[in-house]
Amino acid sequence: MAKRDYYEVLGVSKTASDDELKKAYRKLALKYHPDRNPGDKEAEEKFKEAAEAYSVLSDKDKRARYDQFGEAGLGSDGGFSGAGMDMNDIFSMFGDLFGGRGGGFSGFDFGGFSSGGGSRRSSRRVNKGSNLRIRLKLTLEDIEKGVEKKIKVSKYVPCKTCNGSGARAGSGMDTCPQCHGSGVIIQTQRTILGQMQTQSVCPTCGGEGKVIKDKCPDCHGDGIVKGEDIITINIPAGVQDGMQLSFSGKGNAGARNGVAGDLIVSIEEIPHSVFERNGNDICLQTYVTFPQAVQGTTIEVPTLTGKVKFKIEQGMPSGKIYRLKGKGLPEFQNPYTRGDLLVRVDVWVPKNTTKQDRELLDKLDTFDNFKPNPTQKDRSFFDKMKDMFS
Ligand SMILES: [Zn+2]
Ligand SMILES: [Zn+2]
Repeated sequence: MAKRDYYEVLGVSKTASDDELKKAYRKLALKYHPDRNPGDKEAEEKFKEAAEAYSVLSDKDKRARYDQFGEAGLGSDGGFSGAGMDMNDIFSMFGDLFGGRGGGFSGFDFGGFSSGGGSRRSSRRVNKGSNLRIRLKLTLEDIEKGVEKKIKVSKYVPCKTCNGSGARAGSGMDTCPQCHGSGVIIQTQRTILGQMQTQSVCPTCGGEGKVIKDKCPDCHGDGIVKGEDIITINIPAGVQDGMQLSFSGKGNAGARNGVAGDLIVSIEEIPHSVFERNGNDICLQTYVTFPQAVQGTTIEVPTLTGKVKFKIEQGMPSGKIYRLKGKGLPEFQNPYTRGDLLVRVDVWVPKNTTKQDRELLDKLDTFDNFKPNPTQKDRSFFDKMKDMFS
């Protein structure tokens, strides 16, 4: 299904500021809010469409990619698909846009919006485990090819004594005395949209509608205990320092056989002894001897995937940079595009000389070809100066 242009969806120009985007989105979100349009599928679609557009355009990186490549530029991490989106997601993502007043949207529990409509979602909440955050150090070699890592972590795991139920063996469940089994507390409050009935999760049973009669002695009824786990994760090639990858279901176990949280991995790049990284390019510095620079030669340099040879032309100026196409790092999520290897080749100038060296150098110094030609200037130096002052 062809999607509408995100700018068109929000009714703003391509140069809209963050503030204009926010205003446009807020206006649409209020207009198509499910609570104002109960049971109206079209309004719900419009509401989701606006949220999707805003989620992309309010993110500087995503917006840049979208401007350049359209929807294709967003790849698999491009926001979310409007059709599969959960209303709760929209509110958890943009809740702050709806004002901070207690009775405003930010405190609005979305379990309540469909109470007047036809399709009521189950209000019974599934316990979700908390996210687990770890740092992962990677070498450039790991990053170049992508890597599978087995990591030992401390995290919440299901309690073995009660098999995660939280109940002592043989103990049953009682209906929750506060919500009488519904799992929710219904309140009527005044909001900017008028009087509104809202539901919130019952604090006594956490939305389960039941309470344990006799709690498991090891986990005190939570069904989870602190433990250790070995997690296997696949890190794709091309990740960058500071990037965060999320692995769904690999975080802390959820209470009472709930759903596990996510594992959030922060990537840390270990500095390389030979290479410097610049985006997807890698840089290397090496030397040739003075006779090699004068006469030309072939040199061999390391790359992340083995050695390569390339030609140095006759009369190479010191500090020349050679670009070896495609010998850099693969692009994240697009491994067929690779950066380059940039090799700066300097002429080695010895610090110490022997008597024999000096005799030879003195002789060389009398030769015309070895005298500098003042009409030959290094243009790149002047260009750099111009850049500095422009
Ligand atoms: Zn309850
Ligand atoms: Zn237990």
